[in-house]
Amino acid sequence: MEQNIVTILGSGTSTGIPIIGCQCRVCNSSDPHDQRTRSSIFLETKNNNKIIVDTTPDMRSQILREGIKKCDACIITHEHADHIHGIDDLKPFVFDRTEHLPVYTYDKCADFLKEKFAYIFDTDQHLAGKKALGSGVPKLKLETIAKEFSIGKDHFKMTTLPHGHTRSLSFYHDGLAYIIDCKEVTQDWLDYLKAQKPKILIIDCVRRKPHTTHLHLEKSIEYARYIGAQCTYLTHLAHIFSHEELCEELKELDFNISVAFDGLKLSY
Ligand SMILES: [Zn+2]
Ligand SMILES: [Zn+2]
Repeated sequence: MEQNIVTILGSGTSTGIPIIGCQCRVCNSSDPHDQRTRSSIFLETKNNNKIIVDTTPDMRSQILREGIKKCDACIITHEHADHIHGIDDLKPFVFDRTEHLPVYTYDKCADFLKEKFAYIFDTDQHLAGKKALGSGVPKLKLETIAKEFSIGKDHFKMTTLPHGHTRSLSFYHDGLAYIIDCKEVTQDWLDYLKAQKPKILIIDCVRRKPHTTHLHLEKSIEYARYIGAQCTYLTHLAHIFSHEELCEELKELDFNISVAFDGLKLSY
């Protein structure tokens, strides 16, 4: 491949859109762009790596929808349910592999995953001397990362950003900046990303009003303008945003910014 490709697997907030039982106009919208599964992305790199970023509760349907047949590695941004609860669905990607599939995350999140998914990541402790039976456990291994890491020939620079009581991993890869679930972006990371002159920025934007743990529209726009990517896409969107209306609203701005949707593919 001559270019890297990022696919938006999901662009919705933690409930997904439509929200169960909600009768609002966006949850009832006939525009397919208003149907948002939980937020994650898929990278296909020039170096032939296929990488899933976050294993949402919707991962199985996202992978089937996009016809994805291979995955070489996974990156987990943080331990919230909407980003990890599909982790068992990585299992088919490891069926014909002898080695475990690597799952990259930062130290505290790795500790959490080891505890929460002990049957996957801490099998000896979990089995406590009992014999392993059946074949239901996905063969995954944790790789703890900080500052920068490589997956094969693909080089990533990363940081963690404040997100409520936890932190969320943000990364830069060869022209793509990904900022998900965070209350703010640190100045040094903003400056680093700006200096890279990214082709694409995908950034958290949960709603209009300020939120205790996420970026809201005004803040997302402010950061996007500062970073100055060739094009910015807002993601992790709640049901207050109609895709069409938000696209129109963003066209009024003096730089290139738009709205992510499930299935959107971008090259970088
Ligand atoms: Zn989230
Ligand atoms: Zn979160």
